[in-house]
Amino acid sequence: MALHRERPFAGRHAIVTGGGRGIGAAIAASLASRGAALSLLGRTAATLESAARRLRDEHGVQAGIAVVDIAAEASVAAAIAQCAAERGPAAILVNNAGIAPSAPFLKSDAKLWREVLDVDLMGAVHTARAVLPAMLEAGHGRIVNIASTAGITGMAYVTAYCAAKHALVGFTRALAIETARKGITVNAVCPGYTETDIVGAALANITAKTGRSREEALQSLVAHNPQARLVRPEEVAETVAWLCSDAAMSVTGQSIVVAGGELMP
Ligand code: NAP
Repeated sequence: MALHRERPFAGRHAIVTGGGRGIGAAIAASLASRGAALSLLGRTAATLESAARRLRDEHGVQAGIAVVDIAAEASVAAAIAQCAAERGPAAILVNNAGIAPSAPFLKSDAKLWREVLDVDLMGAVHTARAVLPAMLEAGHGRIVNIASTAGITGMAYVTAYCAAKHALVGFTRALAIETARKGITVNAVCPGYTETDIVGAALANITAKTGRSREEALQSLVAHNPQARLVRPEEVAETVAWLCSDAAMSVTGQSIVVAGGELMP
């Protein structure tokens, strides 16, 4: 019984896209600490391998990887089939892989728009399409889409990202309704600026384009957050783990903002 309380996800297979680093790695660790077997999807084998090894060593769970471009539907379907063959059908899917290039709208060409929509929106569509039949058959499933505060409100210089994350929130809401009577919940988590490589790249971009120091650039980012700090990846991860728990069965179609009070939708 104690074991069940401490490892509530034992026997469940969780797929985390972009699980090799940043928020995705923290989510994978949080699910593994609750006993889930993990499949980490991403583009970079070395990063994924070392993250999977850490999960096996630190949490004693099964953890494997699949190297895939999340935008490529056929490869995603094949990768998820391979993960299911190795660790069973997925009970949990966390769509975390994402890119966030910034540029003024008039410098964001159609190629950039397509790339962002293909990764940040269609990546989640492809994975959901691949896992849903098994979840429907099991009568149980959890899908969590990592959107952003940019999925709830407008932000300058990230028009494509904002559009893709708003669309991801819309997809979350619609799929939640469609699966509501099937034991499946679909939610979005919307972090504010979080301490990862994406923010590192944003700081480098601001510094290069404005001549501001890194510290000044950081202050301009945390100024959005009433707590005046970056969110920690682990804070996002714990919210995801709760949404994946049995206790959150009534929570579906929601967009939970993890941003120190930045938005109060
Ligand atoms: P990160 O450190 O840059 O990691 C991004 C992850 O996505 C990496 O694991 C990367 O894999 C993967 N990825 C990117 N493009 C991919 C593709 N085409 N196919 C497969 N995998 C791909 O970013 P993060 O900050 O952890 O962000 C994770 C999620 O949170 C993203 O959806 C992001 O939009 C969202 N978010 C982040 C923040 C923030 O401030 N950090 C705020 C709000 C929302 P590789 O390692 O193989 O490149």
